[in-house]
Amino acid sequence: MLTLTQSHLRQLEICPRRYQYGYLEQVPVPTDPEMLERQRWGTQFHLVMQQRELDLPIEGFLEEDAALDVAVQGLLAAAPELFTPQADRFRQSEHRRTLAFNGYLLTAIYDLLLLEPNRGQIIDWKTYQHPPKQAQLAKHWQTRLYLYLLVETSDLAPEQVSMTYWFVAPPGAEARSEDRAEPPSSIAIAYSEAQHRRTEADLRRLTDRLTDLMAPGDDLPKVDPESGHCAECSYAVRCQRWAERFGEMGGTVLPAIADIAEVPL
Ligand code: SF4
Repeated sequence: MLTLTQSHLRQLEICPRRYQYGYLEQVPVPTDPEMLERQRWGTQFHLVMQQRELDLPIEGFLEEDAALDVAVQGLLAAAPELFTPQADRFRQSEHRRTLAFNGYLLTAIYDLLLLEPNRGQIIDWKTYQHPPKQAQLAKHWQTRLYLYLLVETSDLAPEQVSMTYWFVAPPGAEARSEDRAEPPSSIAIAYSEAQHRRTEADLRRLTDRLTDLMAPGDDLPKVDPESGHCAECSYAVRCQRWAERFGEMGGTVLPAIADIAEVPL
């Protein structure tokens, strides 16, 4: 059964051909060294937070990387309630949930899951300099799939679960003052029965469409060039959407490096 993560759903919704190249065929894309370093740092941050949760030593990592030390200590100071053990609270980092759905295996890995008898909190660490708006985050497939899966795989009702993103500044992020890094910030997203039903309907629509499109030997369709998605797509040359990405004059359009985080699942 084919696995679908939030990243797959996002790409599928943007452009089925991008999903084909990125996940079904795993076509490599040119990578920017600065972007790779940003991703490495984000992955390292997640690893340290996981090791800490498992009671494994993290001092070696923090001594080697001052920015990592500042980020971890800043987060511990900003959200002590997340890290305080509670007798009736289950907690686990890198917690995986899967659900068989319409012929696919929906999968999520939570950076941290906190479960109490009548409450479930999904915590996600982001190493972005510029957090998106709450409304944007609520529409993101990561938020929608993660909350949906928690409700479907537990006894909790939609109103009893939430997802909170914590943003820590990556190295080189602009700080408000020269000697102090930007403190971590958070955005919490609540959930409801209506959102749950909407997500389920959208998941059914997307998975039905993928099943229809997956005829053996056929390429998945490209998005309409007028959508604007080709302008930020790494497969533009392969897709002969060169002009949409680089412009008639050949100039490049790249995302802000400071906003590129770890490789999402
Ligand atoms: S260049 Fe455009 S059509 Fe091709 S994969 Fe990317 S988004 Fe899809």
